[in-house]
Amino acid sequence: MFEKILVANRGEIAMRVIRACRELNIKTVAVYSKADANSMHVQVADEAICIGEGPSTDSYLRIDRIISAAEIADVDAIHPGYGFLSENAHFADVCESCNIRFIGPRSAAMNALHDKSSSRNLAKKAGVPTPPGSEGLVETEQEALSVAKRIGYPIMIKAVAGGGGRGMRAAHNDISLVKGYHAARTEAEKAFGNSGVYIEKLIENPHHIEFQILGDTKGNIIHLGERDCSIQRRNQKLIEETPSPLFDRKDFKDHRKKMGKAALRIAEVAGYTNAGTVEFIADDAGNFYFLEVNKRIQVEHPITEEVTGVDLVKQQILIASGEKLSISQGDVQFKGHSIEARINAENPFDDFRPSPGRIEMYYAPGGRGVRVDSHAYAGYTIPPYYDSMIGKLITYGKDRADAMDKMSRALGEYMITGVKTTIPFSQAILQDPDFRRGTYTTAFVERLLTGARRELIQEQA
Ligand code: ADP
Ligand code: ADP
Ligand code: MG
Repeated sequence: MFEKILVANRGEIAMRVIRACRELNIKTVAVYSKADANSMHVQVADEAICIGEGPSTDSYLRIDRIISAAEIADVDAIHPGYGFLSENAHFADVCESCNIRFIGPRSAAMNALHDKSSSRNLAKKAGVPTPPGSEGLVETEQEALSVAKRIGYPIMIKAVAGGGGRGMRAAHNDISLVKGYHAARTEAEKAFGNSGVYIEKLIENPHHIEFQILGDTKGNIIHLGERDCSIQRRNQKLIEETPSPLFDRKDFKDHRKKMGKAALRIAEVAGYTNAGTVEFIADDAGNFYFLEVNKRIQVEHPITEEVTGVDLVKQQILIASGEKLSISQGDVQFKGHSIEARINAENPFDDFRPSPGRIEMYYAPGGRGVRVDSHAYAGYTIPPYYDSMIGKLITYGKDRADAMDKMSRALGEYMITGVKTTIPFSQAILQDPDFRRGTYTTAFVERLLTGARRELIQEQA
């Protein structure tokens, strides 16, 4: 087992990894940018090393500085968290060549799934349906138009390197296709340094259903059930839950099994190890399509932990250290219901504009069935350089109604002043009749934000 791990990330996920290490009796090294000097992950780690200026290109994305820090601190392994370098196969290779274990999938699997277009091809090879679309990259406007003609509108133009809902444009006709094609390329170049895009049929009003997988280096691979992440704004998740209410529908009663099997097939074909997520979208007719594999721990992993009792970050560490999975598929039991609300420092009444700055007062909810994963505290200044997510509120209940009641109650207790947060918006979602019934799709948030409901929310502000 490792003696010392460097956490190459910041914010709540750095805290999450440090907590797991502490329980496993492993020493931790935090790295931080100058803008994060007062961040809680720096306080709770055993050691901390500054790796540069605020912008992530000068700090959390600097492979050379992270490796130097790892060598100075003499660590056995690096946990990359999510975002930043977590899905960078080159970084994983550099770690291994420096004799530092990378806590994530092996680079062969990372390469097989390295972008969304190659992942689509792998899914096809595994016999798993993908949305109709282009064969690989779409290099010209002309080619985009001919793909659209072949598969029919509406379509989605998607960045091969995309993530966090960025680099994606829907198009309903030739004019919006041409506009969207260039817009997606420009956005992708800026966000990911890669302007490559491909085209997929747009599946209307789908459900986003993903499966958590865990594979060890001995060839054992299991899934830990699904998460429903259909509550999204601009293709970015806001609220996630497990089990998915969709699977309560009669016409979906075999889908958990079918989709779980499909997720495992993809993982097997890729030779996948460590923790990962296979994402799908499903339409109301019961068709489901592979979207992508997230080759890392995911933001919403805690809800799976709550219903399965499996600590996913500890599993990542154990697997990376070469241990055999101690649980088999038959051992995985699901109990109760869990919901997560992402707490973002954004103003929901001003088009979700980021709201960095100093947190004046901070009181996190607690009580039975309530978990808060966060690095925020009173007096903490949220830097403007990174993600606006400052925490995750997770509730666990004996059933969906119980988990929802606990979520409403806990959102009501959560007090953060000095910056604007998405708490009131999550509260509005929790009150919504469609959400309460569990009959929502990825179109839910947009609908909530328009029409009469919008006024209601503004009145409450
Ligand atoms: P999840 O499915 O885990 O919710 P998200 O897509 O919301 O994943 O991304 C989680 C975090 O990782 C966010 O901070 C997001 O901005 C970041 N992220 C995701 N993909 C990329 C990428 N390709 N490059 C940079 N950051 C990314
Ligand atoms: P990211 O890497 O940004 O997470 P994904 O491919 O996982 O990108 O897509 C993010 C979200 O965008 C999905 O959960 C879904 O809501 C929407 N989306 C992506 N592709 C399609 C599609 N072909 N049809 C409809 N919605 C889609
Ligand atoms: Mg995704």
